[in-house]
Amino acid sequence: MKTKIIATVGPACNSPEKLKELAQAGVSIFRLNFSHSDAASFAPIVKTIRSLEQELGRPLTVLQDLSGPKIRIGDLPGPLTIAYGDKIILGPAPCADKGRAYIPFDKHEVLDSLETGDVLALADGALQLLVLEKLSDKNFLLESKNNGIVTSRKGLALPGKDINLPALTEKDKKDLREGMVLGVDAVALSFVQTPEDILEAKAIIKESARNIPVIAKLERKNAVDRLPDILKVVDIVMVARGDLGVECPLPTLPSMQKRIIKACNDRSIPVIVATQMLLSMVNNPSPTRAETTDVANAVLDGADCVMLSEETAMGSYPVETVNFMRRITHEAEALLLERANRLELPENDVASDFLSYSACLLAEKVGAVALVAHSMSGAAARNLSARRPRQTIFILTPDSVVFRALNFSWGVRPYLIREDALGHLERSENFIVNFEDFKLGDSLVITAGQPRKGDPPKGTNLVKIYRK
Ligand code: PGA
Ligand code: MN
Repeated sequence: MKTKIIATVGPACNSPEKLKELAQAGVSIFRLNFSHSDAASFAPIVKTIRSLEQELGRPLTVLQDLSGPKIRIGDLPGPLTIAYGDKIILGPAPCADKGRAYIPFDKHEVLDSLETGDVLALADGALQLLVLEKLSDKNFLLESKNNGIVTSRKGLALPGKDINLPALTEKDKKDLREGMVLGVDAVALSFVQTPEDILEAKAIIKESARNIPVIAKLERKNAVDRLPDILKVVDIVMVARGDLGVECPLPTLPSMQKRIIKACNDRSIPVIVATQMLLSMVNNPSPTRAETTDVANAVLDGADCVMLSEETAMGSYPVETVNFMRRITHEAEALLLERANRLELPENDVASDFLSYSACLLAEKVGAVALVAHSMSGAAARNLSARRPRQTIFILTPDSVVFRALNFSWGVRPYLIREDALGHLERSENFIVNFEDFKLGDSLVITAGQPRKGDPPKGTNLVKIYRK
């Protein structure tokens, strides 16, 4: 389980029993989608995840996903089946014509800019609707360019149109503050456009006296264009293919995914690939060939995490989906580790990266059974992970925020340890001595930050080969 699996929580899996089954099947991170709910209704789920974490003895991370300025349609009385060529009314005024399908929508920033000839993309682009004419009551008459089903609050996009909305809406700020009280372990920002969007969220987190990682969901073309600047301030990145694939032409999506992942790997920033990974499993007990290949390719591209959305939130086979995902990532990891020249020199020309790289080389040379690193901030863990070593990376940290944040890093197994009077190297050696899976005669490679006696810790400064 080197590649981490993120499962979105929803009606299909929000009972304590199902959450446990998902965790046992291999989920490390549970995503709470604030587009569809709020902190109060997620509180019992967070409680369940916390007790599961105790029960299973490994970190389970709670990810708050903020809805962002996503443009959504309103609530429908029930699913709306639309066929090619159907005429539909969209707008703020309830439609009097009972014979005609009506989609409620009242976002005036969008309605004001709509023109005849525009094409609206609904539900991650599943339905394309051409604007035929503006009606007298602020509604619009649309024509469907394909068949599909529309359900309440689906996303609506205007590819190619610039609609200037800030990444953190008032709802997001409120949700984020409530999320801090709820004790979420990471927060994802939707529709990020600039580094300032990230800094604004970080300021709110700091106000709450917390220090959790922030994830930039890349779903806008201009965010991808500004990736180097965003990477300077963000902790984790998500290739949010659902909305990104609406904003950018679909044929460009695969190369975009690979470029983003490479940029993150080069900087030891964990990266998530999201959306439609095993989508057909919403209704089927096994995935398509293309889907299994997509999951495997994400691992080979260098993704740290792969994410499930509807599959676990509202699908008929949530546990089976996680099982499939785990088996696919497992096979892909084996291939990744088979490849020659895997242990590449880090792009970053700094000593700490070289230290982690050297530790991985040493681990190969001595046939180490594991890497063990003491990490206060998590940086050493991410540097080791970015080299994609064969050995599991056991990370010892006294910080519970880092402990759960490291669940996003490929190949990392975080352990929460107590702060004591011992030095970091000694703590690591004690861990090895007491850990039953390591047998007498096993070789391990340790990295730690070992300051002179009395000095404060200043980052990782040693690599040691340890024989148990
Ligand atoms: P969403 O984000 O599921 O919150 O829309 C992921 C994506 O757009 O891919
Ligand atoms: Mn999205």
